[in-house]
Amino acid sequence: MNDTPMLTVDNLIVSYNGIRALQGISLTVQKGEIVTLIGANGAGKSTLLRAISGLVAFQSGSISFHGVPLNSIAAHKIVEMGISHVPEGRGIFANLTVFENLKLATWTRKDRENLDEAFRRVFDLFPRLKERKNQPAGTLSGGEQQMLAVGRALMTNGSLMLLDEPSMGLAPVLVRDIIRTIQEINQQDGTTILLVEQNARQALKIAHRAYVLETGVISLSGEAEELRNNPKVQAAYLGG
Ligand code: ATP
Repeated sequence: MNDTPMLTVDNLIVSYNGIRALQGISLTVQKGEIVTLIGANGAGKSTLLRAISGLVAFQSGSISFHGVPLNSIAAHKIVEMGISHVPEGRGIFANLTVFENLKLATWTRKDRENLDEAFRRVFDLFPRLKERKNQPAGTLSGGEQQMLAVGRALMTNGSLMLLDEPSMGLAPVLVRDIIRTIQEINQQDGTTILLVEQNARQALKIAHRAYVLETGVISLSGEAEELRNNPKVQAAYLGG
């Protein structure tokens, strides 16, 4: 039973209006891993994350979490099972404060007594959010909003975190910061991470394993180190 991957995606097909975005994807994520999914615009990366968290329906194939099929489970139940999703474009509530955004993310948690500790952890990882606790989230800088999005996912206390391009739109120095923080989250308590990134160079630095997605198909997979040294990956995703 211990060999069952935390997440198993098997032969997944997702179509939008008859056009296939995912054409039979299979992948696994083991407990404690950072797995990164790299691929060009429109390859289907966000679609895969959205299918896992129950936000888009799939036509065939299966997704299971600790061996439990997610096929007919509602998105809010999937959060309760321990899968948290940081969507592309951040998905924060602009008119609520930083604190209120974090608090709202805890609604599925049964262990209300641990909330103080959860706030402490987020504020330790992101001191800038602590300083801006009472500021409306819409007035945060892009990088700070990204921190808030990751902070919200941490507040749900999930065991698997799906991160959709957390570095999008950030200056290079902030990209390194956010990637380093993701690694720290993984190392602190073994939170498992499935990381979608266009910034393949940074993602491959912290990932244990990686998959390359090309127009809805996995074209390559392996240890992150191995893919970093792969000439095809270098030419297509690491700037030669
Ligand atoms: P990016 O890096 O640009 O965000 P991605 O790899 O995350 O791209 P997806 O957003 O998953 O790619 O999109 C995969 C394909 O599915 C694209 O061709 C896109 O146009 C299409 N698609 C995504 N969402 C929808 C939708 N709601 N309706 C119709 N087509 C969609």
